[in-house]
Amino acid sequence: MERITPLEDILDVMKSRTADDHAFVTKAYHYTELAHGGQKRYSGAPYFVHLSAVGFTLADMGMDAKTIAAGLLHDVIEDAKRTEEDIQIEFGDEVLLLIQGVTKLGKLKYRGVERHMESLRKLLVATAKDIRVIIIKLADRLHNVSTLRYVPEHKRERIALETLQIYAPIANRLSIGSIKGLLEDYAFPYAYPEEYKKVEAIIATHVRDNEKRIEKLYRTIQIELAQNGITDTRGSFRVKRTYSLYKKLLKHHMNIENIYDILAIRLIVPTIGDCYRALGIAHALWRPLPGRIKDYIAFPKPNGYQSIHTTVFTGDGGFLEVQIRTPEMDNEASLGVAAHFAYKENLNTNGKSLPTRFAWVKEISKLQKAAATGDYIQTLHTDFFEDRVFVFTPKGDVIDLPVDSTPIDFAYAIHSDIGNHIAGAKVNGKLVSLDTVLKYGDIVEVETKRSAKPTKKWIDYAKTALAKKHIRVALQEESKNTAK
Ligand code: MN
Repeated sequence: MERITPLEDILDVMKSRTADDHAFVTKAYHYTELAHGGQKRYSGAPYFVHLSAVGFTLADMGMDAKTIAAGLLHDVIEDAKRTEEDIQIEFGDEVLLLIQGVTKLGKLKYRGVERHMESLRKLLVATAKDIRVIIIKLADRLHNVSTLRYVPEHKRERIALETLQIYAPIANRLSIGSIKGLLEDYAFPYAYPEEYKKVEAIIATHVRDNEKRIEKLYRTIQIELAQNGITDTRGSFRVKRTYSLYKKLLKHHMNIENIYDILAIRLIVPTIGDCYRALGIAHALWRPLPGRIKDYIAFPKPNGYQSIHTTVFTGDGGFLEVQIRTPEMDNEASLGVAAHFAYKENLNTNGKSLPTRFAWVKEISKLQKAAATGDYIQTLHTDFFEDRVFVFTPKGDVIDLPVDSTPIDFAYAIHSDIGNHIAGAKVNGKLVSLDTVLKYGDIVEVETKRSAKPTKKWIDYAKTALAKKHIRVALQEESKNTAK
């Protein structure tokens, strides 16, 4: 049975906050409980179960008191007949704006694959006003999808599909890994029941017995780190999540033999220097698979994700992915954009400032402060809110780019090092010029040469801020070198 999250649990995860924050959240908690009175969920449990759960998720993510309060209150206007005026008087303008934003987003419905990108765009445009709206909406959706078993059958599939097609990709784009994975795993069985059964069967036969093995491997590497002087480490190990395994299986014709990251160990070490040392230690312990070291610290993913990944042979015929990162990188990988809106003191516990990972998120916060210049808005719209084209690498990986992107954007989206050495490009097997506009479904191949370098023209050819930025940096370095 679903249960109400007690106020004490919420205040407990807010331990480090001020008394004012506690009082504000407490007031919202009691206000909501009273307002929704006798309303019930599908399960028959009080409606307040849902609201207290959303409040808890937000508090647990370290969000500010106003966001937690808005999460608790998000349905009082629509479903509990409280007026906007009332909320404004009791909780202020900011909370009211957040609730209004969440209510508007609630009207968004999944209407088939072909239209979901449009919904995605609308959702992102809505968040430009205040990104906390989407964070509340994600927490709201997370609880709803975690209780899908109580929802009438004819509604389940729609909610599940909507979650996989709209909300999980948004959580991913905002790099809120902690929510993205849960949304997918809760929704998967109801969105694609047949496929889910298949994946479960594959896991049952191939993966289960590995769980004991991975625990042992994890202990081995932790001891090895300590013996090499890297202490104060944390970490975890996991078996790949069901939905993410399913997506990977699709790419590999459902053949599990080709998937190397079913088992993964995560090592969280104090500094970036320690990350590279830990990589060396892992490789001394287990032989690495050639060509599978990914340095997302030096080259973050487009959503800002940072970590080192390597795949190793564990000596008993199995593979293991080792992910290595600092606590700051780990915090951002799980909270993503939310980390930037979280309670500030939480983030600076080590006296270190956050890594500068979310250039575009910072742009959004600048927008919020209404200090945005036309340029900022243009960049934002170009990269995140406009329609996107999906193109493919020759191996079939999907690259998601804004409309009017060129092979240059494609190359930089894969890796800055590829971008910086483009010598030519092929689209659907034919040689094209570097300013060719890519179309939906194009298969793009980029040729590189070590001697090839960006030119000024490339800035005009590129559409994405990411590509333009790298080209500018490369040009600056080039001119410095010639000046010498
Ligand atoms: Mn709700």
